[in-house]
Amino acid sequence: MQKNDLITVVIEDIGANGEGIGKADGYTVFIKDAVIGDVIEAKIMKAKKNYGYAKLIKIITPSEYRIKNPVCPLARKCGGCQIQEMEYGRQLQFKEEKVRGNLMRIGGIPKEDLEEIMDPIIGMEHPFAYRNKAQFPFGSDKEGRTVTGFYAGRTHDIIANTDCALGVPVNKDILEIVLGFMKENHIRPYDEKTGSGLIRHVLIRYGFATKEIMVCIVANGRKIPNVSRLLQKLRELKGMTSITISPNTSRTNVIMGDSYEVLWGTPFITDYIGDVKYQISPLSFYQVNPVQTEKLYGLVLDYAGLHGEETVWDLYCGIGTISLFLAKQAKQVYGVEIVPQAVEDARSNARINGITNAKFFEGKAEEVLPDYYREYNEKNEEKRTCADVVVVDPPRKGCDEVLLRTIAEMGPEKIVYVSCDSATLARDVKYLCGEGYEVKRARAVDQFPHSVHVETVVLMSRVEK
Ligand code: SAH
Repeated sequence: MQKNDLITVVIEDIGANGEGIGKADGYTVFIKDAVIGDVIEAKIMKAKKNYGYAKLIKIITPSEYRIKNPVCPLARKCGGCQIQEMEYGRQLQFKEEKVRGNLMRIGGIPKEDLEEIMDPIIGMEHPFAYRNKAQFPFGSDKEGRTVTGFYAGRTHDIIANTDCALGVPVNKDILEIVLGFMKENHIRPYDEKTGSGLIRHVLIRYGFATKEIMVCIVANGRKIPNVSRLLQKLRELKGMTSITISPNTSRTNVIMGDSYEVLWGTPFITDYIGDVKYQISPLSFYQVNPVQTEKLYGLVLDYAGLHGEETVWDLYCGIGTISLFLAKQAKQVYGVEIVPQAVEDARSNARINGITNAKFFEGKAEEVLPDYYREYNEKNEEKRTCADVVVVDPPRKGCDEVLLRTIAEMGPEKIVYVSCDSATLARDVKYLCGEGYEVKRARAVDQFPHSVHVETVVLMSRVEK
């Protein structure tokens, strides 16, 4: 097979990035935007010895899983969604299989055991307008006009769109106000190539339960000229609660700066998950899909199986969301989080909910927990349990081995592992299986419909010796 060859392919599988996989004369090709079941014509773009990458040219026979008119006309171009053209039920099946495959191949759990272990994936009833947060990059189009939207798949080209179908309708109003303000005041968007220009990103958060709105302008500087005009316009929007600026002058693709200042209103918005109230500030992590988050945390609570007497650790706790969700059914909860602002949020969240049995530590989980355990052992001659249940919810790269070893040494009855990357989850699960734990239950939760991402929760328990 050679570059520019035209081939006809039946799409038989889905790759980890949502692309279609098919075979032409025994040669495997990966084709973005092709849906499993499609028969297509494609053009080879890159040919390796045993496989290649091709571009979708024409759909000859559409798959039964192909959506005829995707809700967003930009779905194919935009990097935000990868599989919007695939019917939602099939998306869920794909995600569940992805998790199962990782637990099997990387986690080393036998297929037969997984049949028993895995509960069916939890999907959404209405998988649109679900995101409570979006970070919109600002830049210039080919004609030099200021635009905002989302990055295209692999590049930082901005696909202009103020009305993403996964986001809330108010995003559009806010972005139009910012674009209008920039035009009127001759304020340039940031240019990644030269490092010039002012407005880099606009972060918008929306409290689904409270209808409160947060806008945080990420700027290549500390001041925005004529900012009061912008504030005046934004304040007219119903629900506007917090307007902040986060200066970020470094030449990186990290979105947020490392601090923020209030321009108007409060430094946070408030939202609820179940009956727990949370204050969320611009730099803190907060799950993006509140409808699914309630189901996710409910599942964590269910797997943790608390009776009220347990000591629970919530590692990578963010603003204390899981900690506080569990606190009502535990004796004591300890949260550990690396971002100082998030720890502050966690502490005030405990306070505003009247929760007194949750304590938060600032630092790396892989340092805080070993330190705590060492001191605990020094102080307590008789061995009492210092952890009955440990919850971990790390970022994509998963847990540090030092942390996993410490958890195993502490010997909690149960470990509940929450993860947005089932590959690193499976790696860590395998490690814990070697340290005296076994997987009891696992379940995928679709926090991110139309993207290829999926959240997974695994319950492990200590093997009785
Ligand atoms: N459980 C929370 C947050 C999960 S996201 C929730 O559901 O909302 C992962 C969190 O881990 C982020 O808040 C991030 O700041 C934090 N984090 C990243 N590396 C860390 C580390 N080494 N130690 C502790 N926290 C860390």
